[in-house]
Amino acid sequence: MTGPAGGTAVLRADVAVVGGGPAGMEAALWCARAGLAVVVLDEHEDLGGQYFRRRHPAIRAVHGDHRPEGTALAEAVRASGARVLTRHVVWGVDGRALLAHDEEGDRALRVEAGHVVVATGAYERVLPFPGWELPGVVTPGLAMHLATMDRVAVGSRVLLAGSGPFLLPVACALLEVGARVVAVVEAGRPYRPGGPGVRGGVEALRHPARLAELGGYLARLARHRVPVLQDRVVAEAVGGARVARVRTVRTCGGGDREFEVDALAVGYGFRPATELVRLLGARTVVDPRTGDVVIAAGDDGATSVPGLYAVGELAGVAGVHAARLRGRLAAMSITAAAAGETRADGRERERLRRRLRRLVAFASLTGRLYPPPVEMVDTLPDEVHVCRCEAVPAGRVRAIARTGLNDVHAVKGGSRAGMGLCQARECGTALWRLAGASGSTAPLPARMPVRPVPTGVVADMDRSGPADPAGPEQV
Ligand SMILES: Cc1cc2nc3c(=O)[nH]c(=O)nc-3n(C[C@H](O)[C@H](O)[C@H](O)COP(=O)(O)OP(=O)(O)OC[C@H]3O[C@@H](n4cnc5c(N)ncnc54)[C@H](O)[C@@H]3O)c2cc1C
Repeated sequence: MTGPAGGTAVLRADVAVVGGGPAGMEAALWCARAGLAVVVLDEHEDLGGQYFRRRHPAIRAVHGDHRPEGTALAEAVRASGARVLTRHVVWGVDGRALLAHDEEGDRALRVEAGHVVVATGAYERVLPFPGWELPGVVTPGLAMHLATMDRVAVGSRVLLAGSGPFLLPVACALLEVGARVVAVVEAGRPYRPGGPGVRGGVEALRHPARLAELGGYLARLARHRVPVLQDRVVAEAVGGARVARVRTVRTCGGGDREFEVDALAVGYGFRPATELVRLLGARTVVDPRTGDVVIAAGDDGATSVPGLYAVGELAGVAGVHAARLRGRLAAMSITAAAAGETRADGRERERLRRRLRRLVAFASLTGRLYPPPVEMVDTLPDEVHVCRCEAVPAGRVRAIARTGLNDVHAVKGGSRAGMGLCQARECGTALWRLAGASGSTAPLPARMPVRPVPTGVVADMDRSGPADPAGPEQV
């Protein structure tokens, strides 16, 4: 890889937003409309993030714009005066400054801002199983992306498996592009009377709109005679050049059931992408069951570090509406602080907070109804790769964990699991669980670079002071 072409540019702004998804766009829009100098950085070619990602113009010309409200939001951000830097990867931090790589110009960039809003979204949770590396085994997010963005079915006979309500819209999207969904295999028991328990059922009734949405998906699957099987997980995928068969078992073992497929989409919900906020020093807690890092933040995303906000899925996986509200609330606090006010405008803020709290309450209910079956990892055969990037089998991680290197950092270093291209974004939960067998409860560390970056860019950042002869640039 080559080094940067033109040295390090320094950019100064009132507000820097990392991530141009629903949350980041809301934060940028409302800060810019209030007259603040705003810069938004996103690694993709366009604003949108996961939910509002735009279709290719050729697909749009035939099938239309599938999320026009996202297009309108992106256009509003661009019209607001916010400086939008797409194809800019934020790979690290230096004190409060953000270190970025402009992929198009191959340029190193240092962004210094009074307020930093991190809106980096979430990753899909992947749990390994025998055969998970076969071609045709994908995550539900990828199957959804191909179906909705590109109008392509990931296979003609697809099994959807894992846990979480996201499996249902993915199954419906696959039906829409002509795939046969052979079954939806859910690890929990959320749809069975008595599954969530009386308390869960009553709690669910407080969210009629969300329940209607889930009911709509289930009704559509029933019309297409797609079985929704609960309390069941994937035990193994078998095939040659591509996955051909999937064996599923009951969560407690036994009750084998096989499916002939040419694609398997499997995922266990989402986990927040917290690396940058952690590098910036925000206080966090660890979920003792999954090893997920949870950022301690208010409704407006304010973290323990003054001027640092964590918004969107990063602040708690609760869906697109909550992500937007969090971005908007952060903007309210930032603009109030910039104007020297101690409180953001009262009534509207309270209304948005109430809406957010309802959505967060529903997300917390779904979290309880669809717990990811992380215990699966405990019985993973030794020969199965946990880390695909570095080809590290489960047995090696277990062996290192038993040697007395009893924290996850050391197990990572000793086994090389989680040290490859994805930096444990895929194997993180499994690695933490296997290493945790030795008693460790510390989370996987957040390390720079959080994304792959040309070595020349890093070397350039090591030099003290801005290398750009023109000096710092103002948004
Ligand atoms: C793979 C996947 C598919 C999903 N599909 C759906 C769906 O179909 N329907 C649905 O309701 N929900 C979906 N979700 C959930 C969805 O992410 C949210 O509801 C919503 O998009 C969250 O908005 P956000 O702004 O918090 O994050 P996102 O929309 O994820 O936006 C975050 C943005 O930050 C960028 N980013 C992250 N790190 C960096 C960095 N270091 N440097 C520069 N840019 C960075 C990302 O590329 C992304 O553009 C999906 C989630 C994932 C992970």
